[in-house]
Amino acid sequence: MKFEFLGTADTGGIPLHQCYCVVCEEARAKGVSNRSTSAYLELDDGSVILFDAGYDILCDTFNTKRIRAVFLTHFHADHCLGLIRLRKSVDTITCYIPNDTEGFGDLFIHKDSIAYNVLEPFVSVEIEGIKVVAVPLLHSKLTHGYVIFTKKCTVAYLTDCASIPEASLTYLKAQTIDHLFLDAAYTPWFESKKHLNWESAGEYIDSISPKNGYLIHASCKTVMPLKQSGILLKYPYIDKGFRIEV
Ligand SMILES: [Zn+2]
Ligand SMILES: [Zn+2]
Ligand SMILES: [Zn+2]
Repeated sequence: MKFEFLGTADTGGIPLHQCYCVVCEEARAKGVSNRSTSAYLELDDGSVILFDAGYDILCDTFNTKRIRAVFLTHFHADHCLGLIRLRKSVDTITCYIPNDTEGFGDLFIHKDSIAYNVLEPFVSVEIEGIKVVAVPLLHSKLTHGYVIFTKKCTVAYLTDCASIPEASLTYLKAQTIDHLFLDAAYTPWFESKKHLNWESAGEYIDSISPKNGYLIHASCKTVMPLKQSGILLKYPYIDKGFRIEV
């Protein structure tokens, strides 16, 4: 099975509209568009489990694929925009969500083919032998990270958070995590109550001590100073298309 990122950027993506910084220009030269952070797990039978649905062309990417479930971290546009089209699917799509009664746009008014299931903190769901556990994160909207247990390894998908609550941190430290992906949307000198930065995220990864740690949800403004100064972080920012065997 593979776990792959459809995007690892923030809302604006890279290249950002009308931005001509070195990061955006390099992305243009390569013909790459790194959209908002989301990932998916491809099962051996070709079906998929999605982690977030902000990728706006989700409906095209998985047009003929069976979507076994969507695990939504939260209802910000950059994580759920793809549901707008996907809800017209002829298939029923199970979508696990935190207990957010507002949702996004008219997604709760016109549910169409989406079957929403509220996941309480630390509750697990099992699909084809894969266990997924909801882990609460502190963000500007009710947010879950997800820990994914396959037969081979354990992956933590933790996007969009300003901090990790104590109970979640205790839970994460108690697991043997092979691959941990954590929000580091900002530079350390940008004050934020919504997102971590590469320093605070690095400290969390150190304390959880997974075998491998990676940073996600960056903008060009975040990665540009690293590129210009040549600083190599202990945990790297990953790009769209990053994949691991799980
Ligand atoms: Zn830029
Ligand atoms: Zn968010
Ligand atoms: Zn986000």
